[in-house]
Amino acid sequence: MPEPVIEVRDLRTYFRTPGGIARAVDGVSFSINEGETFSLVGESGCGKSVTALSVIQLVPVPAGFIAGGEVLLRGRDIVHLSELEKRRIRGNKISMIFQEPMTSLNPVFTIGNQIIETIRLHQKKSTREAKTIAIEMLRRVGLPEPESMYYEYPHRLSGGQRQRVMIAIALACRPDLLIADEPTTALDVTIQKQILSLIRDLKREMRTAVLLITHNLALVYRNAERVGVMYAGKIVEMAPTRILFRNPMHPYTVKLMHSIPGMDKRGKPLDTIKGTVPPATMFPEGCRFSGRCPVEMEGCSRAEPPLIEYERDHLVACHLYDRGFMDRPVSRPITTGGESAPMRWTPSVKEEILLEVKGLRCYYPIRKGLFKRIVGYVKAVDGVDLTIKKGSILALVGESGCGKTTTGKAILRLIEPKGGRIVFKGRDITSLSEGELKPYRACMQIIFQDPYSSLNPRMMVGEIIEEGLKTLRPEMDRKERQEKVLSVMERVGLSGDMLKRYPHEFSGGQRQRIGIARALAVDPEFIVCDEAVSALDVSVQAQILNLLKSIQKDSGISFLFITHDLSVVEYIADEVCVMYKGKIVERGGVEKIFSSPEDEYTRTLLEAVPRID
Ligand code: SF4
Repeated sequence: MPEPVIEVRDLRTYFRTPGGIARAVDGVSFSINEGETFSLVGESGCGKSVTALSVIQLVPVPAGFIAGGEVLLRGRDIVHLSELEKRRIRGNKISMIFQEPMTSLNPVFTIGNQIIETIRLHQKKSTREAKTIAIEMLRRVGLPEPESMYYEYPHRLSGGQRQRVMIAIALACRPDLLIADEPTTALDVTIQKQILSLIRDLKREMRTAVLLITHNLALVYRNAERVGVMYAGKIVEMAPTRILFRNPMHPYTVKLMHSIPGMDKRGKPLDTIKGTVPPATMFPEGCRFSGRCPVEMEGCSRAEPPLIEYERDHLVACHLYDRGFMDRPVSRPITTGGESAPMRWTPSVKEEILLEVKGLRCYYPIRKGLFKRIVGYVKAVDGVDLTIKKGSILALVGESGCGKTTTGKAILRLIEPKGGRIVFKGRDITSLSEGELKPYRACMQIIFQDPYSSLNPRMMVGEIIEEGLKTLRPEMDRKERQEKVLSVMERVGLSGDMLKRYPHEFSGGQRQRIGIARALAVDPEFIVCDEAVSALDVSVQAQILNLLKSIQKDSGISFLFITHDLSVVEYIADEVCVMYKGKIVERGGVEKIFSSPEDEYTRTLLEAVPRID
């Protein structure tokens, strides 16, 4: 039997909040063996990250505290150690890598310094020995020229390189357990693939146990041996990965899996989960998924289902499988049709061209010296041609920095292009003055990735949606504007009583609906969606994708969908343009590009996408 490196038993981590005690983690148990990857999945707010912080003993004090349970590291309880002993374990026996490496690295120290600091804190090594280990680790994580990389500062590295440095720091002391909390969420798919295969190789070599926290089910499928599905502070299903994906039992797991977009779901609405995860201060009585569960039964909201081993190594907490609760428990996996009826989208794509972009160029000057002379140009967008038909969705895909967002903003004339032509509804708008452009501003809108930072926190929802109407539809009076605001709010699934609320009072998905309502209010014909669903949980993402698709179908609006998530493209787009280093390298219908890509870069990009068989 392999040794468990870490055993978590009935862990309970609570927070004192003005609204009462928040039971973020509430009775979680699992173990991870040497050389094994165990993954925790679930929507935001389910307690995954707090579980990770509890394991490494970094629960934010004074609000947070471990209210009960044990965390055993190689059989020794670490919850009740002194702070000094805990510090000896952190970074040495248990290491952690976070989602955003830039905020975890100290910008004023070289990366070499940051690695040897960790080594010398935990091991009796001279500076020279620590430096040798540091350079060796930089080499092992695949950074080029590790000797010179040692003297670099974090800001001079790319996102992928910074994440490699974080892994080098985390593994420098050969820890027993590596916690990776959304380690690749901020990275492109090709870099993500490299980072995950690096973690896999190092894990195999060092026999490290890995706790992988992610909301990406395909990543889990490809990288973890076992999975725990968390919901509202509890593990509701746990099984070896292949078993869980072949035979998901808990309605929540089934729903999560059904909401993943992809080619097989094209043309029909995605399954969604109604409602949101309840706040940790107000978990419902009985089953915490009651109220959102599509197969809820009489009594589910009264008695809490225990986590039972339904079949070998497959644990589930649901009354459907509880012999004590039902006379005859369900003997096969449930499938939930969900709220979305199996109707099909039939978007009204017309052959008529709405937008034509020819030879678009956006260059940024590189200035040097005392007089800031221009010594060259960064060619962010370098001769892009694209065409969008009326009522269609064109996806623009590619890695960060390839020029996708610059292209989108240049089309809307939010940044001035250096050259090329933008023809909208037959009119060349490339060099129109701001005044001449005004009628087109209402026709062309944008929805951003981060709905929170793109909504003014001091304005109420009604004011935010009305703002564009005031500027772009001066002919409307106050009453007409109010009616319009209410009708678009209803269109995107927000109720009228939310008019006087502020953005911070909404969930991420609701905030994105506000962003969509703001764009729709001025009756646009074309919307640029810049990574509009990238920051959302898969369940919320499904709701927003359904909404965008229904807007396309009902209103005939055309979209330029900028994204790096290819499963979203497969699901939503009619055509796709692949962008690389400022140029379009391949274009065509989605089915054709995904089934037989011709360009080398497109093939690399598609191969890097983790998939569930
Ligand atoms: Fe649904 Fe009831 Fe099972 Fe909870 S216990 S997941 S409400 S069927």
